[in-house]
Amino acid sequence: MDIIDRAALEERDRHDPLAAFRGEFLLPEGVIYLDGNSLGPLPRKTEAAVQDLITRQWGQHLIQGWVDDGWMELPARIGRQLAPMLGAAQDEVLVCDSTTVSLFKLLGSAVQFNPGRSKILSTKDNFPTNLYTAQGLSALLGGRVRLQTVSEDAIEAALDESIAVLLLTQVNFRTGAMLDIPRLTAAAHRHGALVIWDLSHSSGVLPLHLREWEVDLALGCGYKFLNGGPGAPAFVFIANRLQPGFQNPISGWLGHAAPFDFSPRYQPAPGILRATSGSPPVLSLAALACGVELAAKADLGQVRAKSIALGDLFLKLVAQECAGLDLQPACPTDSALRGSQVSFSHPQGYAIIQALIQRKVIGDFRDPNLLRFGLAPLFLRYVDIWDAVQHLKAVHENREWEAPEFQARKAVT
Ligand SMILES: *Cc1c(COP(=O)(O)O)cnc(C)c1O
Repeated sequence: MDIIDRAALEERDRHDPLAAFRGEFLLPEGVIYLDGNSLGPLPRKTEAAVQDLITRQWGQHLIQGWVDDGWMELPARIGRQLAPMLGAAQDEVLVCDSTTVSLFKLLGSAVQFNPGRSKILSTKDNFPTNLYTAQGLSALLGGRVRLQTVSEDAIEAALDESIAVLLLTQVNFRTGAMLDIPRLTAAAHRHGALVIWDLSHSSGVLPLHLREWEVDLALGCGYKFLNGGPGAPAFVFIANRLQPGFQNPISGWLGHAAPFDFSPRYQPAPGILRATSGSPPVLSLAALACGVELAAKADLGQVRAKSIALGDLFLKLVAQECAGLDLQPACPTDSALRGSQVSFSHPQGYAIIQALIQRKVIGDFRDPNLLRFGLAPLFLRYVDIWDAVQHLKAVHENREWEAPEFQARKAVT
């Protein structure tokens, strides 16, 4: 294996077709941010856009803002901007509520499409909000529909005519391992089940083809690789063919066909708008619009290629620089099977991450012992990976993780 040095990576950065995107973000001085998969950084344009929304639009236009400033249009407008990134049609995507609330809505509708069936099938290691939401819905339905969970390699074998909906997340939040959307979608369809794909760790960084893959329903987080800001609303995708039958379980007034008739009887809006419940979170949407606009400018083929290169580099450098340090890759080493993160296991994972944060290298820790590093190609440079691995090596060599302040657990990891 060729030895990699920092100078070679500086050269690589000079030829990076995405290099200019870094300047579009406000990154704190000296920080190597490897958590863009958890909370994306602040796009420069967001600051002014949110300020304008507050002082000029809300401050001066008051209630007229709903129409004059296009607030009411934001959920569908941002949806149209996201559509090409998802391989969706313009009228298949809407941005409205949090990821968790959006999931409840999709799941609640999905089980009504298949009323004779009694199970939601998911994976044991799915992101907990997916499992909890399914459990909550099951309780609400008096146990008529139950959640069944299996390991990732047992999904296809567990599909049968009792499954109403297959609920999966493309990229495993711990390991970064990727599930095969077209294959599992086709398998679910062979058994008459619907699919819901959670694309929280995918949108903005992986090329997606939801129409071509015949995905039924999907959703994804707005504050990870889409850089929409803390707690940003999520997007939902509802395939055109399912929209007429989509029954929103949070059937609020703004999802009504004619909200300002104030009719006592709910009648859903046509098309994707029936996924609306109440008033859109306009302040949050203003920030999300900037993140999505930025992500939409990047060529997703280039983004994916760089994401793979950053991940391969991280793994190679850990092997080259940190041999003998007890760091085991916990993500797929085959880039075709890996999302946009790398993870490693180490018995002192938590304390190592804390020691790295002290050195301004921001990654995160996931139970039981995983160090997780998100790879956001729009602002990371190849030299950042070199520098991060040098810090990782130094933390080990100096045994910095032994310091008591790094051993105590914080509330947000
Ligand atoms: C981040 C993430 C969520 C986030 O849910 P919120 O309601 O936005 O807190 C949901 N699902 C997955 C798979 C995630 O990675």
